Amino acid sequence: MTESLDESLGADLTAMEKAGTLKSFRHITGPMNPEVTMAEKSGRVLVLSSNNYLGLADHPEVVAAGKKALDEYGAGTSSVRFICGTFSIHDEIEKALARLSRTHAALTYVSCWTANTGLIPAVAGEQDALVSDALNHASLIDGCRASKAKRLVYRHSDMDDLEDKLEQAGGARRIFLVTDGVFSMEGDIAKLPDIVTLARRYKASVILDDSHGVGVMGKRGRGVCEHHGVEGNIAIVTGTLGKALGGAAGGYVAGSQTLVNYLSQMSRPQLFSNALPATVAASAKKAIEILEREPARIERLHALTRKMRDGLKQRGFKPLEGDSAIVPIIVGDTAFAIRMSKELLAEGIFITGFGYPVVPEGTARLRIQMCATLTDAQIEFALATFEKVGRKLGVI
Ligand SMILES: *Cc1c(COP(=O)(O)O)cnc(C)c1O
Repeated sequence: MTESLDESLGADLTAMEKAGTLKSFRHITGPMNPEVTMAEKSGRVLVLSSNNYLGLADHPEVVAAGKKALDEYGAGTSSVRFICGTFSIHDEIEKALARLSRTHAALTYVSCWTANTGLIPAVAGEQDALVSDALNHASLIDGCRASKAKRLVYRHSDMDDLEDKLEQAGGARRIFLVTDGVFSMEGDIAKLPDIVTLARRYKASVILDDSHGVGVMGKRGRGVCEHHGVEGNIAIVTGTLGKALGGAAGGYVAGSQTLVNYLSQMSRPQLFSNALPATVAASAKKAIEILEREPARIERLHALTRKMRDGLKQRGFKPLEGDSAIVPIIVGDTAFAIRMSKELLAEGIFITGFGYPVVPEGTARLRIQMCATLTDAQIEFALATFEKVGRKLGVI
């Protein structure tokens, strides 16, 4: 029998509520910062689950650059680029992104989601093959699904399985090896030196999504390619402006000039969806400048991450190992992760519990994300609070 839509959707939501897997949404009443004000809780709350890795989301220069662009370019782009033109700020930020990515060119999109889903179906068609990591970000997965290419998924970071899949892809006109740089739910890093070697052997072009790596990995924050010393060896890098680089929105594809020319002609969001707002482009460009001139921010981020990891281990937690600024603590089922997150909020820490379907069943987690502008006192407070809540709930 055909169900009424709202009743049918409502029943699904009720089932989620009963299972304890319904997400609660919090309301932030001021700027994103290591400490925020929240409608649901009085006083200030420490945020440990934002992508604001470098603390640039409310940096005065980043804010000022956006305001200035609003005056210079107005509020809207009012069309796609091929119809109504590219604003000069687009050219400027794309130059900056190419410089940061060590590529010849870059092209912006309104988000990295749009970049990935606009890139992959454009370059990979029926005669081609996509070989992708099982734990890739949802936007890469959707990008692959939207392509008519043959799709082969290899076990997460399993280089033998990757090689098998590359062999199976043999004979395709183009082969793409698709991977996250930093895997967002695990915080581990793609094995790029091996990936580059295998890609060469099988004539595959690597598509690397470095959304969680840019601004975080490498001495200068240029991402996992800098971290692994393989800059210049990756055909296509995608990334977001919505994390370390100011955190507003926006994404990009960086690669050869030919690639960018091709995407400008063929990538559907470039043809059918508005350009990146000028204000956002200007703020992100300022964020890149700050990243380039203040490497101390990255050093601080790395030092704080080590401190958090060590502190958690000393208190009996077992965070997943990794070099990124993502520190996940696996706690088991989804309802428990959500409960722990609620307990932490009651103590003044905002950190979201992730469960199924964002991560596989039984591996629900709290994902700590570090920020360069956290103070030592805030880290001590966080560790003490984790200990208190962890004991109360029997995690440690
Ligand atoms: C966050 C993220 C995205 C999405 O970025 P948006 O710009 O917010 O769309 C894409 N890929 C990866 C790996 C991410 O972590």
